[in-house]
Amino acid sequence: MKYSYSIGIDLGGTNTELGLVRSDGHIVARRNLSTKDYTDFPTFVDDMVKAIAELIASAGIEGLSSMDDLQGIGIGAPNADPTRGCMVEPPNLTQFKGVSNFVEEFKRCGVTVPVAVDNDANAAALGEMVYGGAKEMKHFILITLGTGVGSGIVVDGQLVHGSTGTAGELGHNILIPDGRLCTCGRKGCLETYTSARGIVTTYIEVRNEMGAPADAKEHPGWITAETTDAEIHSITVGIAANAGDPLALETFRRVGHWLGIACANAVTFSAPECIFLMGGPTKVGEPLLKPLRESFDEHLLNIYQGSCRIEMSKLNANEVAILGAAALTNQ
Ligand SMILES: [Zn+2]
Repeated sequence: MKYSYSIGIDLGGTNTELGLVRSDGHIVARRNLSTKDYTDFPTFVDDMVKAIAELIASAGIEGLSSMDDLQGIGIGAPNADPTRGCMVEPPNLTQFKGVSNFVEEFKRCGVTVPVAVDNDANAAALGEMVYGGAKEMKHFILITLGTGVGSGIVVDGQLVHGSTGTAGELGHNILIPDGRLCTCGRKGCLETYTSARGIVTTYIEVRNEMGAPADAKEHPGWITAETTDAEIHSITVGIAANAGDPLALETFRRVGHWLGIACANAVTFSAPECIFLMGGPTKVGEPLLKPLRESFDEHLLNIYQGSCRIEMSKLNANEVAILGAAALTNQ
């Protein structure tokens, strides 16, 4: 079997991870750069190029002796503009001011292979298509739950970018008019109800309504009345739900209900075969998935009934960012 190789780069506010990825989705080797140590973008790209050269040299693969032998370099970055190959004023990387153009900087460093840039949710969606559960699919949506709620929409085998390059922000669809205040400055976005923070906010609301169970201390994993609001994280609520804590179960019932409505709405504009879910809060499993699927079926327009299923991402959580970035070189 003859493989091709790509570089996938996951650019984060603290760390940047680079991986040499084989065409079957095996990550051959990884390198790490400390993003926060860089003050200017050209030096950062210089060091990424050096790291890529080291990855290739250390792998010692026949037919892969230099960067020219790569299929391409893909970068998952915040505030990415895929049409220009850059990122623009990324919020957690304030040291890189204005427009940081990857395509031009890699070219300056002598890189001749294609360089592709996109945001992390879009990259993850492509990763699912190239290496994960959407290999045979041409129409699907991937939703990532985490600090925010991101999404990548694939139609006819292509990521949807729209006129601005930023299409597919399902997390900022308004789900509840005049609802919770969102980081975007508007009210009632899906993100405020189904992100990790949204889950915690919902748990606190549920506890204020129902009160913590008096016998919580007798049940390992349950959240007690003594646990302060500040001590509650989405992971704690997930553990409690799987231990049978009624307030945590009610929390995920509500979160699943809201996410089911959002998924049903999403189906009406791109008719996907599947909606994939990924991210920390989805690891809770059935306490979220059961009410989500029920709500999805309840709210789905009748002409779509049975045409779209909801699945967990088939990619490994600690590989998805690099695989997704590498998959960008396939578009
Ligand atoms: Zn918003």
